[in-house]
Amino acid sequence: SYQDAPPSDLTADQLLDGLLTAEFSKRSCRSRYEFASYHEKKKNTSHKPSPYLLGKLRRHEALQKRCGPGTAPYRAAVWQLKSGKGAAATDCRYLVSISYRGLGNRMLATASAFLYAVLTDRVLLVHQYKHDVSALFCEPFPGTTWLLPSGWSFPLGHLRDYGIGSKESLGNMLKANVISVGGDGNASWSDGGDHRPPFVYLHLEGGYDFHDKLFYCDEHQRLLHGAPWLLMKTDSYLVPGLFLVPSFQDELGKMFPEKDMAFYHLGRYLFHPVNDVWRAVTSYYRTNLAGVGQRVGIQIRVFQKKPTPLQYILDQVLSCVRREKLLPEITSSSMINASDQVILVTSLSAWYYERIREEYGGGRITGGVHQPSHEGRQKWGDTSHDRRALSEMYLLSTCDMLVTTGFSTFGYVAQGLGGIRPWIMPSTPIWSESDMAETKEVPEPPCVRAMSVEPCFHSPSYYDCTARRDVDVGKVVPYVRHCEDVSWGIKIA
Ligand code: GDP
Repeated sequence: SYQDAPPSDLTADQLLDGLLTAEFSKRSCRSRYEFASYHEKKKNTSHKPSPYLLGKLRRHEALQKRCGPGTAPYRAAVWQLKSGKGAAATDCRYLVSISYRGLGNRMLATASAFLYAVLTDRVLLVHQYKHDVSALFCEPFPGTTWLLPSGWSFPLGHLRDYGIGSKESLGNMLKANVISVGGDGNASWSDGGDHRPPFVYLHLEGGYDFHDKLFYCDEHQRLLHGAPWLLMKTDSYLVPGLFLVPSFQDELGKMFPEKDMAFYHLGRYLFHPVNDVWRAVTSYYRTNLAGVGQRVGIQIRVFQKKPTPLQYILDQVLSCVRREKLLPEITSSSMINASDQVILVTSLSAWYYERIREEYGGGRITGGVHQPSHEGRQKWGDTSHDRRALSEMYLLSTCDMLVTTGFSTFGYVAQGLGGIRPWIMPSTPIWSESDMAETKEVPEPPCVRAMSVEPCFHSPSYYDCTARRDVDVGKVVPYVRHCEDVSWGIKIA
């Protein structure tokens, strides 16, 4: 029913300066071409995608279409996989992305897999768990699907079961000497490739071991290039790690002349909420956030099992907005003019929102204080829960200023899509009773301004492949630094 013709009247703004293809119909996915109009105010600071990136994306779309599910090369490649042969059946190569954890983690993992697929000329196919991709996102590539066909047509079994012990992983194949690295530093298949496996599994989770991390070495990248199928499992934003692979640096530099805008462009290219999620976003926006001078988003994520309200976290939020003068100072009841602002609070709990409303409601700011939902706790495999999370990320991304909770990938996605450098509140997981004590103190400072809009990569490899030792990965190149919120992580800034 959505087979209507592609629109010819799209403006450069709607196409995000050429980032998006005009090949889709408007009706099939309204968010794709409407997204721009919700980010208009920030246009003067907008960062245009490079012509080089646009060329890459158009060529990648052609590759996805030529080799994707339903095509003859795809059938041949699946047949090759089933037959257990390692040699490629066609010139099409594939990357299957297996992401997991909360929606923020999954989106960062998917964006990372996409960039890796573009860099290595592979077709990206995303594995979904209970329709957790198709229920949330439109197809990003025209004339094909990015969803990995399930069931009989895909022979690798339960993709979620791949893990550190899988014998097909890069790390385990290195350990078992299926792959060997010669004195010249080149990795190769030990028996000349005759018995190479039909696919390689890339285990890129936090807590991965030395051999799996060799993924970030040039010599292993050269070897992986020949594998017709790769499976990649991660929950992280790997992009800063890709920027540290020497053989990718030239290409990445051309794609992203503003390196710290990588996720901004990748996320805006790849993610488009499906129509009913988008309807929720836009109607909430119109009712609660539109027409106000300045939108202030506050994302409060408390890493705890039981959703108990914590006073010191509220104090941290209030102290951050006061100190950074993000909201009007409340001196007495005699405030004369309400400031032309609106506050959007997102949190699993309603308690913080209620306290913030007590503080800033009552006409002190023109737009009032709003919270779209309070889900209580994180729920797994629950589509309507995920849909609310997605719509709140997009609502946060329309804000002019953001206060986010450190460590949270939910906040990273919002800041990245919006191109907003947030004030990050340092956070620690709540493990014990003492972490919940009334006496616990607010960190000093309560928040810091982020260096860039980029997400933090929480589990980088510290191994320098050329020097053959661990190094400080925050000091290898000037644009990859340690994160503000996760000291062992790295981000592009
Ligand atoms: P992270 O755990 O903060 O890194 O972010 P994730 O998005 O990966 O996982 C947290 C999940 O908890 C989200 O995907 C949501 O399902 C839920 N969640 C956390 N905070 C919020 C919130 O403010 N609003 C909504 N609707 N859901 C949230």
